[in-house]
Amino acid sequence: MTNNTSATARVFCIANQKGGVGKTTTAINLSAGLAKLKQRVLLIDLDPQGNATMGSGIDKSALAHNLYDVLIGEATITQARVHSTNGGYDVLPANRELSGAEIDLVGMDERELQLKQAITSIATDYDFILIDCPPTLSLLTLNGLAAAHGVIIPMQCEYFALEGLSDLVNTIKRVHRNINPELSLIGLLRVMYDPRVTLQQQVSAQLESHFGDKVFKTVVPRNVRLAEAPSHGMPGVVYDPSSRGAQAYIAFGAEVIERVRANQSA
Ligand code: ATP
Ligand code: MG
Repeated sequence: MTNNTSATARVFCIANQKGGVGKTTTAINLSAGLAKLKQRVLLIDLDPQGNATMGSGIDKSALAHNLYDVLIGEATITQARVHSTNGGYDVLPANRELSGAEIDLVGMDERELQLKQAITSIATDYDFILIDCPPTLSLLTLNGLAAAHGVIIPMQCEYFALEGLSDLVNTIKRVHRNINPELSLIGLLRVMYDPRVTLQQQVSAQLESHFGDKVFKTVVPRNVRLAEAPSHGMPGVVYDPSSRGAQAYIAFGAEVIERVRANQSA
């Protein structure tokens, strides 16, 4: 993929309705990894927790505009986006105000399409738009899934992982059928992986046998540098580029680019 200004961005949700599985860490570090690979990236923080915003070095309490204003039509993405100097990508930031959108959107026409419509005007500014989803299957997440071409699911190789996954895969199918025929599962990313734990090896092997090449080759290890980085307002990929976690996310960026190219030429 080149920086062709007429091409429109690939839009991917980073989603898993389970909490604390590494969605935001993946969203931030994939954004920074892709930026290092010379891709133009917008990271949309679709979570009122604002973790992707803070982890990109942007103060969520001092925003002129945030995603809430965009969803209710009071600001454009051009007005609300902020550049993450630390990460090398743009951020459409969020804070607690965004939780109000759940209620305000209910009364609107095409309430699940507000994010999709907002993205249209800036889609040619980027190669990738990544959406960090909250740990729910809410109206906010539905806006993310309606706006995306695909979903990247980060997951830990734990006992109940496969069960939770089938709920999410069914949701993706339902959104595909009813709202967004472009939506597909891009792939499953194994994160916080510890190869010394036998159960993790077993679940990882199960994932490969169930989902085949939908499982990304890159595996992100459990790595404390990735967990430390947000408190410095930096992606791990920038905070300690030589750490094993950072290296994994850069490799993941390259794998995502390769997968997009393979799909486009298929
Ligand atoms: P939520 O559902 O609350 O939005 P999340 O799915 O976005 O959570 P993260 O916030 O990315 O999950 O990660 C949860 C915790 O695990 C954080 O403290 C994060 O720093 C840590 N973490 C994520 N990935 C790794 C990793 N590969 N190695 C070590 N720690 C990690
Ligand atoms: Mg998160």
